[in-house]
Amino acid sequence: MKFCSECAHPVALVVPEGDNRPRHVCAQCATIHYENPKLVIGSLPVWESDGELKVLLCKRAIEPRAGYWTLPAGFMENRETTAEAAIRETEEEAGANIELGPLYTLLNVAYVHQVHLFYLARLRDLDYAAGIESLEVRMFSEREVPWDDLAFPTIRKTLELFFADRLKIREGGSYGFHSLDITRPMRSAGQSTDP
Ligand SMILES: [Zn+2]
Repeated sequence: MKFCSECAHPVALVVPEGDNRPRHVCAQCATIHYENPKLVIGSLPVWESDGELKVLLCKRAIEPRAGYWTLPAGFMENRETTAEAAIRETEEEAGANIELGPLYTLLNVAYVHQVHLFYLARLRDLDYAAGIESLEVRMFSEREVPWDDLAFPTIRKTLELFFADRLKIREGGSYGFHSLDITRPMRSAGQSTDP
């Protein structure tokens, strides 16, 4: 940040009185511009028929990580709930109509100042279509998932947990809720420092 969003005066990075870390502070109107982590919210849409389970993934049309596969997800907007954000992002990116299930993963991505949340979801039908931020949307069984071409570590982790839980469910277990920390970006072709 270079200029105050309240009065357009240049800001300086200083530790405000009573605070313990540097903030962008306006020398003219004294506004302290706090910067806090952002929430990225998405869903893990599932379709099951004839005993075969598939998950819906979107091929990203936009940077970062254009051309790589992701679960439908995006930044939470003001005035919406986390569940509303998950449904909206799934509709926008995949044109998919879901019944939202329980919150499934919470992943801290502290190195990019983000927290990612994914809900389990059931596809109501197969009338999905790529939205403006997607090149392609399709269903994948576990063995079809493009593991080497996933966009972000939070996507990989959420899918890994899902298929591992899936095995336990056959033995009477449940999906449960997973909270974990991602400490480094994906390592694959087309290096990116984004989550
Ligand atoms: Zn100002």
